[in-house]
Amino acid sequence: MNDIPQMEASLHTVLHRIREAERISHRTPFDVSLLAVSKKQSADKIRDAFSLGQRQFGENYVQEALQKKALLTDLSIEWHFIGSIQSNKTRLIAEQFDWVHSVNRFSIAERLNNQRPAHLPPLNICIEVNIDESPTKSGCLPDLVLALAKQIQTFDKLSLRGLMIIPDKTALNPFKKTNQLAQQLVHQGLFLDTLSMGMSDDFQQAIAEGSTIVRIGTAIFGAR
Ligand SMILES: *Cc1c(COP(=O)(O)O)cnc(C)c1O
Repeated sequence: MNDIPQMEASLHTVLHRIREAERISHRTPFDVSLLAVSKKQSADKIRDAFSLGQRQFGENYVQEALQKKALLTDLSIEWHFIGSIQSNKTRLIAEQFDWVHSVNRFSIAERLNNQRPAHLPPLNICIEVNIDESPTKSGCLPDLVLALAKQIQTFDKLSLRGLMIIPDKTALNPFKKTNQLAQQLVHQGLFLDTLSMGMSDDFQQAIAEGSTIVRIGTAIFGAR
């Protein structure tokens, strides 16, 4: 069965809704980019999405991502790591990805910096923030973000780009809080141009509050 027409319709709908959200919230058109979250989807589905014009893909699991990546070396894909990071996986992430959205502590950032191959450009980094200060979440607590950002900024093989959140449904104004936190960092002299926030259910709200990357899986690829 050929699923490309189905995926084309889904991708078109998602992109249309992103452009619509930009317009409604008076954002600059095409300010927001779509990261297609391809975890648990096949390499063939990624190839199909690429053929429809999608270039940025997000993966959560290192081994799974590398297996698919090996089948897609003919495509110039921008690979984003968005999953939780174990110390023993930092070398593969540093070698194989263009972006990491889920850096939450100094030791991980330091390993990624040391392990980023010299011939590659600096690895683009977002700090994952536990914006709701939820006890079950792994992100960096808001009060600790400035110190971590300053440390990351000193690493020459990392390029600090911004903040990322995965808020609970019950969180109060998580997107606005994250935007305000980013602005505080900018006032402290840090250079940030990225807010990775918004998923299938809430990306329009995230865009209204300044998101620049929305991470969407199911709405493009279907159920996992
Ligand atoms: C899975 C995942 C997404 C995408 O979720 P969907 O519900 O499939 O759109 C976005 N961000 C992160 C961090 C994820 O793990």
